[in-house]
Amino acid sequence: MTDNAAPAPQTAKCCKCKKEIGAADEFCRYCAARQRREAGFFFTHAGVWTMFFLLGPLNLWFLWLSPVISRKWKVIDTFITLLLTAAVCYAIYAIIMRIAKLYSTYLNMSF
Ligand SMILES: [Zn+2]
Repeated sequence: MTDNAAPAPQTAKCCKCKKEIGAADEFCRYCAARQRREAGFFFTHAGVWTMFFLLGPLNLWFLWLSPVISRKWKVIDTFITLLLTAAVCYAIYAIIMRIAKLYSTYLNMSF
């Protein structure tokens, strides 16, 4: 009954071979790969999308350098990023055209 209550040791999966290793281990004990867990928030999905809202499509730089995001997700995220970038560019273009139109109407009225 108390078996399940024992605290589980802090473990993590190796970023290369996916075997279970200690959460604090800097190197994998099986394949010796360096663990880059704290290599960054910016290389996670959340980080990449935060970068998108800050820097726009420059987030692709972080996305494709990321050691933790799979290739499939890199392709999907790249596609979504380009789509959103196109949408934002179009929205800005539409707003500018609208302002220009309003402004020219205003100019025509005042002269
Ligand atoms: Zn490993």
